[in-house]
This record gives sequence, structure tokens and C-alpha cells, in this order.
Amino acid sequence: MHAGCLILLALTVFSAPPGTGSVGSLILAAAVDQPDLATEPLVSIARVEPGLRKPDAQLSPLPAEIPDVSPFYEVAEGKKAPFEFGASPLRSEEWGQPVGGMSGAGLEGRSPEARSRLAGDGGTDASEAAVERGLWWLAAHQRKDGSWSFDHREGLCRGLCRNPGSNTSSTAATALALAPFLGAGYTHQNGQHRQTVERGLYYLRSRAMVTSNGIDLQEGTMYAQGLAAIVLCEAYAMTGDESIKDVAQGALGFIEYAQDPKGGGWRYNPGQPGDTTVTGWQLMALKSGQMAGLHVKSPTVLLVNRFLDSVESEGGARYGYLDRTARLSTTAIGLLCRMYLGWPRSHPGLQEGVRYLDQSGPSPDDMYYNYYATQVLHHWQGSEWKRWNDRMRDTLVATQAGEGHEAGSWYFDHKHAKEGGRLYNTALAIMTLEVYYRYMPLYRESWQPH
Ligand SMILES: [Zn+2]
Repeated sequence: MHAGCLILLALTVFSAPPGTGSVGSLILAAAVDQPDLATEPLVSIARVEPGLRKPDAQLSPLPAEIPDVSPFYEVAEGKKAPFEFGASPLRSEEWGQPVGGMSGAGLEGRSPEARSRLAGDGGTDASEAAVERGLWWLAAHQRKDGSWSFDHREGLCRGLCRNPGSNTSSTAATALALAPFLGAGYTHQNGQHRQTVERGLYYLRSRAMVTSNGIDLQEGTMYAQGLAAIVLCEAYAMTGDESIKDVAQGALGFIEYAQDPKGGGWRYNPGQPGDTTVTGWQLMALKSGQMAGLHVKSPTVLLVNRFLDSVESEGGARYGYLDRTARLSTTAIGLLCRMYLGWPRSHPGLQEGVRYLDQSGPSPDDMYYNYYATQVLHHWQGSEWKRWNDRMRDTLVATQAGEGHEAGSWYFDHKHAKEGGRLYNTALAIMTLEVYYRYMPLYRESWQPH
């Protein structure tokens, strides 16, 4: 389908009459039999069967060819001109048919034509070039087996880049590194990073464990499960590749199983009472699944509201981590979840929350907060978005490493950044700069310039 057509569809989907909470349609379209949330658990937790490595017959062999990252280093070493936006390496003839769940589903901005048009609405040539450089840094730090590690020093790097992370989840690192490629429209079928993405997806699928409760990719933490599910759903949505469908659906099934049946949230382990950060990733995964046209259970989605209610304060304007003690980063996550769960732009809690983020402004070092708050303000649009974006975008462009092996990456010295290190900071910074086209804004039709 033509990109222009897709945009038109997106506008149609998101243009419900003002005040009707158009976002609800995005994720709750199937919510016909709404459960009574005041009653007892909606999900009964069964024990996890000991997982078996999935002997995936459909998994074709890992591509033998290692992606060539030398052009990137010629640029970094000044032997070649920097990447120019406009001379986009994404060639439209490589795109074939963008099919599957993409139409009217929120991912339409990622096609090359749409990307270059939408990037002009808030992005700059410099921010788009920064995205491309960041992706090359990620590609250069992929391991031979297709995975990434938060300790990025293996392979070509040999410790040339500082700030390795300490977290050991390879599925979390791999999914977090893959997400920015998909966010810019690069899949395992299209664009210049095909091999990198294919190898990464291959690795994720090789780690998938089949259980009686769905496909377990958590490798010790539900963070990884949520991230991996997002990537699998997006890859399926963007390509229609049937060989990914089952594992994506199974990953969503495991998320549904792992929800705290009483409180509605998620934490590190299945069934635990939730926290806001882990819950945020699971809801984003369910949303990605819905955008991909996969089956997402409406009781699971609706129950997330109960968790958010338990950590909110100021009428839904602020959110805590495990309780109502509000923090900036969890407030941004909570507000984004509320937007996806259908709060209209006229909701007083949402309005007050956006005002709070607007007054607080981007953080100089907390990329977790910046990543979520940028999405909240992009969906919100208006003068608050413009104010936020001008600062956020220019800060990220200015702070990207420009020299040596670190060229293209980011690192901010924040207490929460140590675990994920340079890889985590780089992935979040790239996705923050992809905000213009990664997801279509939810309230596009319902805000008026003032
Ligand atoms: Zn390096």
C-alpha cells in the first residue's frame, strides 16, 4: 500500500470527535465484554512449566555474512562525508509492499517517504543524521551470534568504548538494540540494516522458551519480556512475515499470564505486584501487538488501569514507582499509559500532568524519563511539544559522541544508567530522536493551535 494512503488511514483512525477519547480505539477496540474491575482476579496464575529451548523448525540458518560496518568508521574517522539527511540510505525500491498490521495502526510513519516528511515536523537534518550514526554504532556492537550485550566491549569494540553496562540479560539488550532500527523503518527485509536486524531477530527467537503459559523471553526479568515482545510485534507488523507471528503472539500470551491478577501491574517475576516501569513496557508490548493485528486480551489491558490508579496522585497527574510517591520518570510512564488506555486530551489529570512535564523540561542525564516524556509530549502536540522538542532534540544532537569507536553513541552519567550502560543510553536516545515518525501522534486531530 502506498505511504500516503497509510497516512490517510492513520488520520482516519485517530480522528474521532473531540472529547470522545479517540485513543481508546487504538488498544481497546476489542473490549466488548468489559469486565467488572472491582471483582476478583481475572487471570488465574498457573505454575510455569520448566521451559524447553524451542526447536524452531521455521528458523532459517543465521546469515553467514557479517554486516559491513566499515563505511560508518570511515565517516567517523573523517575519511568520508557525514551522513546527510536527504541522501537517505533507505531506498524506496527496497521496500516492496509494507503490509500486515501496518495500515491505520500507528507505524505508518516508518516508511521512507513518510519518515522524511514527518521528520521535517520537529526533526532536523542534524537529528536525522544523528539517528543514522547511532544505528551504525549499534550495528558495530552486535555480537557474532546476533545478540547484543549491555557490556558492549566484545567483537570489534575490544573495549574502545567506555561505560559498559552490568545487566546480563541478552534478550533485553538485543531487543533494546533492535527497537531503534525498526523505529527508523529498517527491518530484516528492507533497508541497509537487513542483516543486522535479521541476525538480532534470529537470536531473540533462538532464546524463546515454549511454556504452557506462552513464550518466555524474560531471561530473568519481565523487562526483557516486554522489550522482546515489542520488537517481535513490530517486526511482524512492518513486514507481515508469518514466520515471526507465532513467537510474537506467544510472547504476548506470556505477558498476559504474568500480570499480577489482583493489582493489574507487572514486576520482575510473573504474578508479582507491579511497578510502573516494568508495567509500562508490558503495556507498550500489548499495544504493539494490537497494532500488529495480533490477539490481545481486553481484560489484561483494562486491568492496567487498576494498577495506575494505585500509584497515581494529583488526580492522575503524577505517578509513583510502587506507591503514590511521585517521581518524574514514573510520571511520564504513567501519563503515556493513560494516553494509550484512552484518556482524552480534555482529562484534567492528563492536562495537569503535561503541564508538570512541560515545567520540568528534559533531564540533562535521565534518558528513561526523557524517552517517555518525549512520547507524551509528542502525542500531546501544541506549544508544550514544540518547547520540549526544541530542547530535547538539540541536546541529544549536541551530546552524541563524535570521535573514535564511540562515535554515534551516547552516555549520560545517571544513577539508573549504570546497568544498561552506553548501549541502553544510545538506544533510548535514538528512539527519542525517532519520535516524529516512530508512532503517529494520538491526538493529532483534537488539539487546536493557540
Ligand atoms: Zn566500541
